[in-house]
Amino acid sequence: MFCRSCGKEIPEGTKFCPYCGASQNGVSSTNANDTGSFGWAVLGFFIPLAGLILYLVWKDTQPKNANQAGKGALTMVILNAVLIVVYFVCIAGLVGCTATA
Ligand SMILES: [Zn+2]
Repeated sequence: MFCRSCGKEIPEGTKFCPYCGASQNGVSSTNANDTGSFGWAVLGFFIPLAGLILYLVWKDTQPKNANQAGKGALTMVILNAVLIVVYFVCIAGLVGCTATA
């Protein structure tokens, strides 16, 4: 068998991967619902909190869907962080301009 996490070959029935330590227990990775649909990324993007919750709920049973939802949420969080930084830089810039004008 192969490690569910790092993909290295490990002895059959091993509970933890000797290479990366990942647990080999749990639901089979061949979950029919785990399509990794881009829709979950979109959901995570518009509702980051939902994306985060879905990621935490699904990370073991539906890793592809979890990754999509997590990616969407993360993209939104980063985008927000960038916008906030840009916003404050602009404010600082405007204040600077009016102060020197
Ligand atoms: Zn491993």
